[in-house]
Amino acid sequence: AKEDGRNALRFFEVAMQTELTLRTILETELRIGIEKCEFVLFYQPQFNRENQLIGAEALVRWQHPTRGLLAPADFIKVAEETGLIVPLGQWILKSACKQLALWQEGLESNHLVLAVNVSARQFAQKDFVETTLKALELVKAPPEKLKLEITESIVLDDISDAFMKMGSLKNAGITFSLDDFGTGSSSLSYLTRLPLDQLKIDKSFVDGLPERKQDALVAQTIINMAKGLDLHVVAEGVENTEQLTFLIHHGCDAFQGYHLGRPMPIALFTTVLSVY
Ligand code: C2E
Ligand code: CA
Ligand code: CA
Ligand code: CA
Repeated sequence: AKEDGRNALRFFEVAMQTELTLRTILETELRIGIEKCEFVLFYQPQFNRENQLIGAEALVRWQHPTRGLLAPADFIKVAEETGLIVPLGQWILKSACKQLALWQEGLESNHLVLAVNVSARQFAQKDFVETTLKALELVKAPPEKLKLEITESIVLDDISDAFMKMGSLKNAGITFSLDDFGTGSSSLSYLTRLPLDQLKIDKSFVDGLPERKQDALVAQTIINMAKGLDLHVVAEGVENTEQLTFLIHHGCDAFQGYHLGRPMPIALFTTVLSVY
């Protein structure tokens, strides 16, 4: 038994070592990837109740030199832990603003709102407000068309800091959506006082609609709460007609999900745009 224990420990050590090595490799590759601009934004369409295209969420992908196109699940965690999310996040914001500026040039696209995910480390930067406003100004993108998606935990990290930054950005015209709503340990009293524009119902609650009673209740409650607070409400992860019908019936304003459109490269999004 002693021998077994020692073997198990040895196995554990090797596994840990491998994990560490892989992380170090990933970190180095990320660093190089950011320098070489190996990242691209995908755009997932958002629709209103009349099935009109109203905007998109920008979702980052990594065009890895050997491993192909990587999803955020493969690198965002390490990017956050190493702080590399800060330069990556800046690149994401700049790219999103460039796209917004381009959309301004076309009549069929100048109404589109682009939602961009903000990570905690990025939001916590002293110069986050300045950097964001500069990214818009640099390309003359309209602040009203930029929507920042933040999470409850970002806000709760430092509430007074969050209030100040959100206030300044809102004054400039930028809007805010509270992402993954309902999944965090939210303090509703803070949330109602934040300068928010939108609540985003998390996919985990949309998944079980309409059959799962608890999910139906949570979704309805979020929608009603949003109405009461005068907030726009969008549902993510809409994968079928039944979910869409339920959400429309209960008053949800906007919808995003594979049923309506997957995240896609800009060229494809542009063709979707021409159809709607
Ligand atoms: P999120 O912000 O909750 O983004 C929604 C995720 O759900 C996206 O995954 C999207 O592709 C996926 N999704 C949308 N509709 C459906 C659906 O109908 N079914 C299913 N199964 N999935 C759906 P993605 O692109 O892999 O991103 C995962 C997470 O990575 C995001 O979750 C977000 O937290 C983070 N992320 C993505 N892009 C960025 C970024 O540019 N910056 C930062 N900081 N984080 C990002
Ligand atoms: Ca999001
Ligand atoms: Ca989300
Ligand atoms: Ca989510």
